[in-house]
Amino acid sequence: MSQTKPAIPFQSVVMPEALQAENRIQFRCHQDISCFNACCKRADVTLAPYDVLRLKRRLELTSTEFVRQYTVPFQMDGDGLPGIKLKTDENGTCLQLAGDAGCGVYTDRPTVCRYYPLALLALREKDSPTAEERYSLVREDHCKGHEEPREISIQYYRAEQGCEDFDAHNREWYQLVLKKKSAGPTVGQPPQTSLQLFFMASYDIDTFRRFVLSENFRKTYALPDGFYAEVEQDDEALLAFAFRFLRQVLFGERTVQEVADAWDQRVAQRREVWDARKQAEIERRLAAEDRKYAEGGDGVCAE
Ligand code: SF4
Ligand code: SF4
Repeated sequence: MSQTKPAIPFQSVVMPEALQAENRIQFRCHQDISCFNACCKRADVTLAPYDVLRLKRRLELTSTEFVRQYTVPFQMDGDGLPGIKLKTDENGTCLQLAGDAGCGVYTDRPTVCRYYPLALLALREKDSPTAEERYSLVREDHCKGHEEPREISIQYYRAEQGCEDFDAHNREWYQLVLKKKSAGPTVGQPPQTSLQLFFMASYDIDTFRRFVLSENFRKTYALPDGFYAEVEQDDEALLAFAFRFLRQVLFGERTVQEVADAWDQRVAQRREVWDARKQAEIERRLAAEDRKYAEGGDGVCAE
């Protein structure tokens, strides 16, 4: 049912005991097991973008509200690539745990909770552009599911736990996070604005929607007819676009066409803003000088 320690998805590039989909595990979790909910009381759940989408809908919150109320930030790499985890109480219990009844968001629980006691890994062969999905088995003393007399292939376990739908929506993001982590200095440290954009596009889909629907964005990018109407309504389509856009921002993969003179227009707009600010500053200083002379003038007359 649920999860604890493995900080997945996609944390490691190399894992010697990596399992494949056809491998079998001995495991079963059910409501009558002696350790029921023990894992949710030691929760360490890293969230992927589609997890946030499902949870914010489930809790009837905006993504901004969900992130603020129910997550904590952490850094996914040395460059400060932002990640988020589910918030727990001071004892480590997940805030989504609904007492003895178990997970309060079960049908929308995050990927990490679905996979447990497996951890989803990305393995990339040297010089290969894409990562292969592999799995590692996590054994924790409190989890008695390993003692249950049931063997199941990882492939069936994934289907049973509804992992496939989540993976399908998150896969592109896992790939780009892995690419960022394994690229190291060749990509360089992303500027702060790129990291902020990564956070917004990955976890705050409602703010990202406003960004994409803004006048500035429309003036900058040439997107096909129907694009804006689609992403206005469809969270999943917007998420898929977010990953594409992040690849452009982080790795310069130019798949989102820019309007031909967008750069020139932005420079011209900026120049107008700069000129206006400069003029305002000049006027402020002149007014301050005038006041000073006016005050000083009184003094002269008094002499
Ligand atoms: S989301 Fe649900 S299954 Fe996952 S740790 Fe929290 S209570 Fe447990
Ligand atoms: S068997 Fe493991 S996953 Fe299931 S409730 Fe117990 S600790 Fe959690």
